[in-house]
This record gives sequence, structure tokens and C-alpha cells, in this order.
Amino acid sequence: MAQLTMTSIFMDGRKGNNESSFYRYDRPNHQLPITKPFMSEAFDCDIAIVGGGPVGTTFACALKNSGFRAVLLDAKPPEVSVDVRRAYAISLLSGRIFEQIGVWEKLQADMSPFRRIRLSDDNDRSVVEFWPQDLDLPQLGYAIEHTPLLSQLRSFLHTCDSVQGLWPAEVVGVESEPEAVRVRVRQDGTERSLRAKLLVAADGSRSRLREAAGIGTRGWKYWQSCLTFRVKPEHPHHNIAYERFWPDGPFAILPLRDDRCNVVWTLPHAKAKAFLELEEDAFIRELSQRYGDRMGKLALDSPRVLFPVQLMHGDRYVKHRLALVGDAAHCCHPVGGQGLNLGIRDAAALVRVLTQARDAGEDIGDIRVLQRYQRWRKGENWTILAFTDLLDRTFSNQWLPLVGLRRSGLWLLRNVPPVKIIALRLMTGLLGRSPV
Ligand SMILES: Cc1cc2nc3c(=O)[nH]c(=O)nc-3n(C[C@H](O)[C@H](O)[C@H](O)COP(=O)(O)OP(=O)(O)OC[C@H]3O[C@@H](n4cnc5c(N)ncnc54)[C@H](O)[C@@H]3O)c2cc1C
Repeated sequence: MAQLTMTSIFMDGRKGNNESSFYRYDRPNHQLPITKPFMSEAFDCDIAIVGGGPVGTTFACALKNSGFRAVLLDAKPPEVSVDVRRAYAISLLSGRIFEQIGVWEKLQADMSPFRRIRLSDDNDRSVVEFWPQDLDLPQLGYAIEHTPLLSQLRSFLHTCDSVQGLWPAEVVGVESEPEAVRVRVRQDGTERSLRAKLLVAADGSRSRLREAAGIGTRGWKYWQSCLTFRVKPEHPHHNIAYERFWPDGPFAILPLRDDRCNVVWTLPHAKAKAFLELEEDAFIRELSQRYGDRMGKLALDSPRVLFPVQLMHGDRYVKHRLALVGDAAHCCHPVGGQGLNLGIRDAAALVRVLTQARDAGEDIGDIRVLQRYQRWRKGENWTILAFTDLLDRTFSNQWLPLVGLRRSGLWLLRNVPPVKIIALRLMTGLLGRSPV
């Protein structure tokens, strides 16, 4: 992918509101050849989606039968996009969204439900246990690896007649016109343009579309990184998910298909890097101390991968003819496995807002329409971002008053059913406004 920096130009072009109606970013290296004239291969659609990660692709799938014509663009070749060594906890609400989209059946073969969640603090012996019965449901969530998730979503796109997928195709420029947005796309060394009524930026946490639109962000990088990998334990996992809080950071085990588990081990940067480089035998010894012996001997089932962790929230999610979804709009600490789930909810909510606006005869790129999506999602996302930050900070801390406070919190979760149910509904996505 070409490395770009961007210039952004803003003008206040719309009467009666102070939204910028013009935003633009350009390749800074103007020596790069543009082999075809800018306008030569223009083609039109209703929605251009930039970013074919799990959120952009979910959004594209959710457009099936909506009547919108859309193009989904991703800069990476498909074999690179699907080859990410990560697994996700998928919330009950995300499961319902996938079901409504019609992709659930395809995903189920690779999903592993979890039927219990065990939450514990350091070496405190008392454990909070969440059961499906707490919600009167058969499971509490699911786990799936990135590769089958994205492959199945992309294969579902073949059934969506009005959605075209283009990859590798990098968006290298955007210009806003009064009635449309023009996206410059580079594919196979050729540049062409695409004219859409709305641009949906699903281009990840370092979103260049967000930057180009001048949307600021707030947040911070954590002092920790996440080491993730798969293990194959000697004994079955019994579909139990674990989250244990250690002074270094949370340690999570997700039960995957075929009795394998995905581990997300949050550690201070230097320690995480040292563990990444440790010989396998020595690493397994360190790991076993954290993992415990409940599943017997452990064998690594994948390479270890290190991810940086940050909290980031866009100051806004929308501008005239632009909407941000997923990590382009917000990122959170992986504790509790929420990041992708928020993005899936954004995608479903945005499709709902756009469909209603179109049915009411409104322009889907109009800022007043897009603000409905922002009003819906921003507060809910903020709550989860704050909650995950609070969890990480209060549990990665040995200050006695805080230890006392969090132990009281865990006591409440164990002994006061309404508190437990509210926490569970928050983490499973069932507390906010549902898009399905
Ligand atoms: C260790 C770890 C564990 C996690 N575990 C969980 C979990 O259990 N549950 C959960 O819900 N979340 C989890 N998350 C969060 C989750 O990974 C992210 O929220 C999710 O991947 C975001 O998806 P996205 O599609 O928004 O962005 P991305 O996956 O970053 O996709 C962005 C896409 O945009 C494309 N792109 C970028 N720029 C351009 C351009 N100019 N032109 C064309 N294409 C472009 C890129 O190629 C990429 O494919 C975890 C995160 C980490 C780090």
C-alpha cells in the first residue's frame, strides 16, 4: 500500500449549517504517475464503502435487499486481509445482527458459543460466574477467528447483487461536490473515480478519510500491549470464557472450535515484547502460571502476535456525505472483547438510518440524516469505551483503596442479581438501542 500523507482543505459550503461541504485529500507525492485522466472511468453508486475489514464488510452485507447500490473497496489483496491472527468474542447482539443480515448460517460452522464466563481478580479465590440462565438464553456469546469471519462475510457478498467488492483497490483521494462525493481509486496502477451519494469510512483506527475530513480524536495509548495466540490444551475447554485481572493487565481465554483456545494476554510493553521473543518452552512455562492447570498441558497452536492498545474516540462520526464506522470512529481496550461488536452495531444502525431516510425521500448524504446515526451510536460507544478503560485501570492497580473498591464491585456482581444482569446485558450488547 502506498504511504500517503494528506492535505485537507475545508470550506463551509452549506447555508444554514456549519458543516464542511468540501473535504479533500490528495496524494502528496505528485510525481506518482496517474496513468488515466481523473474523470475517464467515472461510475456511480449510492454508497462507497472504504475498508473491507470486518466492519466495512458487515456494513456491505447489511445492504443486501436494501435497494442501495454500493461499492466496497479495500487496499489489501484478499489473501492478506483474511490472514489476521486474531479471534473475536462476538456478542449476542452481534449474533442477532448477523442473523438478520442472513449470514449467520454461514458463520455458525466456525463459531463456538460460550456457555459460561468466569471473572476473577488476581489471586483472590472468589470468582464471578455468568451463566446463560442469568439471561434466560442458551449461550452468552460466541467466539470466532478473523479468517473464517472475514472469508464468510466476503463470500456472502456474492449473494448481494447490488454490492460490488473491489480489492486490492486503494482510495487515494476524495473530493466533495454539492450532490455527491468523488472518490479516487487506484487499482492495478490505474486511477479512476467513483461518484457516490455517501462515503462510509471503515478504514480502521488510522483512518485517512477521518483525518482528511478534519475530524479530531481524543484518547490515549495504553502502557500495555496485547500478546495473542492460540493454544491447544490437553483437556476440553467446555465452552467457558475466562477473564482474569492481574496487576500487569487482563488475561483472557476464549473457547474456539475444536477445543482450541485464543489467549489475549495484556502486559506492559517491555514484558509483552520479552514474552514474544521467549523460546517456546520457556514461554509455555510462563503461560502455564497465568493459565492455570484446569485444561491440563498446553501446546502453542499459532505464532504469538503483539498488538498495541489504544483508546480513541472521534469528536464526531459524520460530516456532509461522510460517515465513520468501526475503528475509524472509535477504538477501545480489548478487555471484554467489545471493539468489533461496537463496529457491527454501527454498521447495522447506519443501514437502518439510511434506509429510513431514503424511504422518506431524503438525501442519504445530508448531514441532518447522518446526525441521526451519530446521535444513536456516539453515546453508546462512549459508555463502552469508558467502561473498558475503567476495568483496565482499576484492575491493573495495587493501590489498596482501589483493590477494596473492585473487590466490592465483584462482591456486588456475585451477590446482587440485578447488578449482575445489568453488567451482563451491557457486555452482550443487550442494554442499548438495538438496530434489529
Ligand atoms: C488484541 C486484540 C483483540 C481484540 N479482540 C476483540 C474481541 O474479542 N471482540 C471484539 O469485538 N473486538 C476485538 N478487538 C477489536 C477489533 O479487532 C477491531 O475493533 C476490529 O478489527 C475493527 O474492524 P474495522 O473493520 O473497523 O477495521 P480494520 O479491521 O482495521 O479494517 C480496516 C480496513 O480498511 C482498509 N483500508 C484502510 N485504508 C484504506 C484506503 N485508503 N483504501 C482502501 N482500503 C483501506 C484496510 O486495508 C483494512 O482492511 C480486538 C483488538 C485487538 C487489538
